[in-house]
Amino acid sequence: MRVGIGWDLHRLAKGKRFLLGGVLLKSAAGPVGHSDGDVLTHAVIDALLGAAGAGDIGEHFPDTDARWRGASSVAMLRKVVRLLAGKGWRVSNIDTVVCLEAPKLTPYKAAIRTKLAGVLGVASGDVSVKAKTAEGLGPIGQNKAVSATCVALIESRVSRRKK
Ligand code: MG
Repeated sequence: MRVGIGWDLHRLAKGKRFLLGGVLLKSAAGPVGHSDGDVLTHAVIDALLGAAGAGDIGEHFPDTDARWRGASSVAMLRKVVRLLAGKGWRVSNIDTVVCLEAPKLTPYKAAIRTKLAGVLGVASGDVSVKAKTAEGLGPIGQNKAVSATCVALIESRVSRRKK
């Protein structure tokens, strides 16, 4: 078994679509990004790549590459899960924290867990989504940014297989 951590932050701007964990949130503002700006999915990707010792999201999906402009982060995550599978890894579970002021995530948590679990090939019980505010402090507190942190555990699909 191996563990990895991922973190990401995106600026928020009015009129942008707010995708989080592949689920569309009702919000007047949304993240700015080269891809679809899905901060939670980006944190999950980095945690998985970190656990596998396989680099980071910027190496795999550079923002200088037009291929990833407006790209679906869920599709990027799917690629990473396939990459890990090719190295003999499967996802065990992930735990995440999203830090944002608005909207409240409670009504969306179940849908986000189901969505990410489907992509990761785990049960929704293996995907934890927790939400925090920044108590009005700093750019997150002023609703100018959203951040996400993820810890992922992966396990070898085949014991004693060479990584
Ligand atoms: Mg990002």
